[in-house]
Amino acid sequence: MSATAVTTKCCVVGGGPAGMMMGYLLARAGVDVVVLEKHADFLRDFRGDTIHPSTLELMQELGLLDAFLRLPHRKVERLVGEIGNVRVTLAEFTRLSSTCKFIAFMPQWDFLDFMADHGRRYRGFHLMMRTEATDLIELGGRIVGLRANAEAGAVEILADLVIGADGRHSTIRERAGLKVDDLGAPMDVLWTRLSRRPDDYADAFGRFEAGRIFIMLNRGDYWQCAYVIAKGSADELMKRDIEDFRRMILAMSPWLGERVNEVKSWDDVKLLTVALDRLPQWYRPGLLCIGDAAHAMSPIGGVGINLAVQDAVAAANILAEPLRAGAATLDHLARVQARRQWPTRVTQAFQRAIQNRVIGPVLAGAAQPKPPLPVKLLNWFPPLRGIPARFIGIGVRPEHIHTKEVAGA
Ligand SMILES: Cc1cc2nc3c(=O)[nH]c(=O)nc-3n(C[C@H](O)[C@H](O)[C@H](O)COP(=O)(O)OP(=O)(O)OC[C@H]3O[C@@H](n4cnc5c(N)ncnc54)[C@H](O)[C@@H]3O)c2cc1C
Repeated sequence: MSATAVTTKCCVVGGGPAGMMMGYLLARAGVDVVVLEKHADFLRDFRGDTIHPSTLELMQELGLLDAFLRLPHRKVERLVGEIGNVRVTLAEFTRLSSTCKFIAFMPQWDFLDFMADHGRRYRGFHLMMRTEATDLIELGGRIVGLRANAEAGAVEILADLVIGADGRHSTIRERAGLKVDDLGAPMDVLWTRLSRRPDDYADAFGRFEAGRIFIMLNRGDYWQCAYVIAKGSADELMKRDIEDFRRMILAMSPWLGERVNEVKSWDDVKLLTVALDRLPQWYRPGLLCIGDAAHAMSPIGGVGINLAVQDAVAAANILAEPLRAGAATLDHLARVQARRQWPTRVTQAFQRAIQNRVIGPVLAGAAQPKPPLPVKLLNWFPPLRGIPARFIGIGVRPEHIHTKEVAGA
């Protein structure tokens, strides 16, 4: 059976934070865009819940902030940790000068649904769910489209530009043959959830002990729990009785008591592998990668969503007009990389430093970890907490919306 053919200006692969923001901004600027998402909905297991002050600033610039903040969310004004027996405040967002001085913890599916709903208001926005890109179509060394499997069968999408926003296991970057530099990550994460009681802590919370790290994110009536383990150790651990894992949780947060029994089997635990990598070159003629597809981010600092969104904003700023005019060139794609490469490198260098100096040694260590001097300084001089707050909450080289909403788009 022959494939259905679709023609568009831009085909974005992946309905994550990068892809949905990209699709929304292009459609708003009058560019016909098709966004493909392989899943049927955005309701997947944990994918990161953090909407940072700089993303909220973008919502404000788009005139969407009030509607956005009407979605259920929790405001987190500071990040707190426990290193060994010492409780430390790592960042205070109230010290920022941005419109929103907090991180909004919001299920990622609400954020993505919100962008999809607002995207659908524009004629040029076409979201194809349950559609998985499988291969690229190349003509004379230029990517001119892709092949995908949709619910109704095979589809070929021809586009002036294909954008790979399909995350850290990107099919697009692999099919395009783009080289990947692996920066390495010493850990993976086991996710599970436990019920939360109204009198539990309110803050997001991380505990560092010799050989283990446990992070708990307040999701209202439950805790999203991340147990950080040494890379590659999950198989061995998950062969053991689930009771061992319950004991490991209890050792980190004894106050959870019998609630650990809510983890009934390994089916209630999900392994998320952590990657830290980047492409030396993000583009080829007719193709650009953004977000995790261009640079997989570690969960450290919870900055990956923010970076993905910032990439989309920068890409839309540079590409919307040329795409509309049918005149996007390789030089435009190179400009997107040039704009976003530096923030990516700086942020990954920070993540690597934390991986190598804190996470790796804590996971490998037998002795009770102690807060390093920079962390002690944050405890002693509260104004210093504005520095990590800025780095995490706003990031390096924050982007602003320069695309205009096109009348009748
Ligand atoms: C364990 C863990 C925890 C994390 N926690 C946080 C956090 O709290 N805060 C934070 O900011 N960041 C966090 N991150 C990083 C964050 O998840 C990513 O940086 C961010 O999601 C990148 O967004 P993206 O849009 O580039 O890619 P993704 O969010 O990965 O989205 C890619 C999308 O593409 C779709 N897709 C993939 N292949 C195809 C295909 N072939 N065809 C069609 N669709 C396809 C996928 O289904 C997905 O919806 C975490 C990462 C890990 C590993």
